[in-house]
Amino acid sequence: MERHSDVLIVGGGAVGACCALELARAGADVVLIERGAQLASACSAGSAGLICPGHSAPISSLESLKLGIRNLLKPDGAFFLRPDPTLAPWLARYVVACRPERARRGTKIMRELSVASLELHASLADEGLPTTFTRRGILNAAETDAGLASLEAEAGENAEAGLRVESLDGDAARSLEPELGPSVVGAVFYPDEAHCDGARFVEAVGASAHTEGASLLLGVEGLRLLQSGSRVLGVETNRGRMLADTIVIAAGAWTQELAGQVGVYAPVVGGKGYHVELAAQPSTPAIPVLFKEARVAITPLSDRVRVGGTLELSGLNDTISQRRVDAVLAGARRGMPGLTGREPGAPWLGLRPCSPDGVPIIGATSRIPNVVVASGHAHMGLALAPITGRLVREIIRNDAPSHDLHPLRPERFQTLIRAGGRGAAESR
Ligand SMILES: Cc1cc2nc3c(=O)[nH]c(=O)nc-3n(C[C@H](O)[C@H](O)[C@H](O)COP(=O)(O)OP(=O)(O)OC[C@H]3O[C@@H](n4cnc5c(N)ncnc54)[C@H](O)[C@@H]3O)c2cc1C
Repeated sequence: MERHSDVLIVGGGAVGACCALELARAGADVVLIERGAQLASACSAGSAGLICPGHSAPISSLESLKLGIRNLLKPDGAFFLRPDPTLAPWLARYVVACRPERARRGTKIMRELSVASLELHASLADEGLPTTFTRRGILNAAETDAGLASLEAEAGENAEAGLRVESLDGDAARSLEPELGPSVVGAVFYPDEAHCDGARFVEAVGASAHTEGASLLLGVEGLRLLQSGSRVLGVETNRGRMLADTIVIAAGAWTQELAGQVGVYAPVVGGKGYHVELAAQPSTPAIPVLFKEARVAITPLSDRVRVGGTLELSGLNDTISQRRVDAVLAGARRGMPGLTGREPGAPWLGLRPCSPDGVPIIGATSRIPNVVVASGHAHMGLALAPITGRLVREIIRNDAPSHDLHPLRPERFQTLIRAGGRGAAESR
């Protein structure tokens, strides 16, 4: 098959689906290709589904860097950086981005995008899309005084930025969510935050994009970008050529494989995470909980409880570390003893698309202006998918940007110096 469209989107995860919906609603002729047998074939399906502007610190911070180094020899650590030579260029940029002023700026950008995206999630649900959007707030629970102090410091900044925040001692946290165990010394509650089931969110958005006229082609893999000078004419796929005026690369952790073919540097690596699911019981938690020290998220879904965690930068592979899965489950059971005794299902793994500074990469480059990258959202891709779709539509349709696109541009990574120095100054 050979087909021409206004926009060809590669990747049918949360980000690709939201781009398709925004563009189709704006009247563009949109084709989305997804190599899996269904939408959300990769990371989006198994995310914890938390939409939490209060948790906007990027993965690049001194705290994470120190944890990554401490965990080098710890096979069950929640954050792991493999010292792999193929990851070296990414790791060098990551280390530069961990400087406190860079991390603070990253948090501000992520928070602003996340607040806007939370409202877009709410609007999609208000329109009647069955995205499973549920607004019951999110609890950030601590099991140590130091953990609580860190949550409260973050809460102070979030409150200053306009988020509603409630600080709770251990007993107050347990009366809000009785499933919390005695190890919880306190918590910060964000009452306006929400959660959803990632797979059902993408399904609902994809179905709506289809109704608006987008073609969603499943089992179609983008193999090669077809370049002619400074333009990409389309994509060679396993089902023939797909031509388009603009190509959007929303291929999650595999984005760089495609973008790199035409010299677009979009350094995205896979940040592996796991979840296991437990059957719901009458005592199932009602409110999602993020445990600070264990770095574990517990999300109540319709008929089950999802327990997720770990960020392992170890390349694009699907190896499961049972020790890390066990550590995730143990962390969840320590904080919520009622989960003990419920048999977990098989572990699931997903690769978060991680940029070195933890901020999404959204935009085109001057080198190939008709290729738009939409990736690198790390631990916040489900939350940020609706605002990403909006920004991509604004870029492609030349609409006034609703947010500053400068800190999101792919070109910020072109040189290491610019990633940490001049570019940082430019984006202030
Ligand atoms: C354990 C865990 C918990 C998480 N919890 C949260 C959370 O609470 N909140 C949150 O916001 N985020 C969370 N995340 C992160 C979130 O899941 C990701 O950021 C998000 O799913 C990324 O979406 P995406 O569309 O960019 O990528 P993906 O969902 O990975 O989609 C990319 C798609 O592109 C397809 N593809 C790739 N290459 C090609 C090709 N060549 N041709 C065709 N198709 C291709 C893939 O098959 C895939 O379906 C979590 C992640 C994990 C692992």
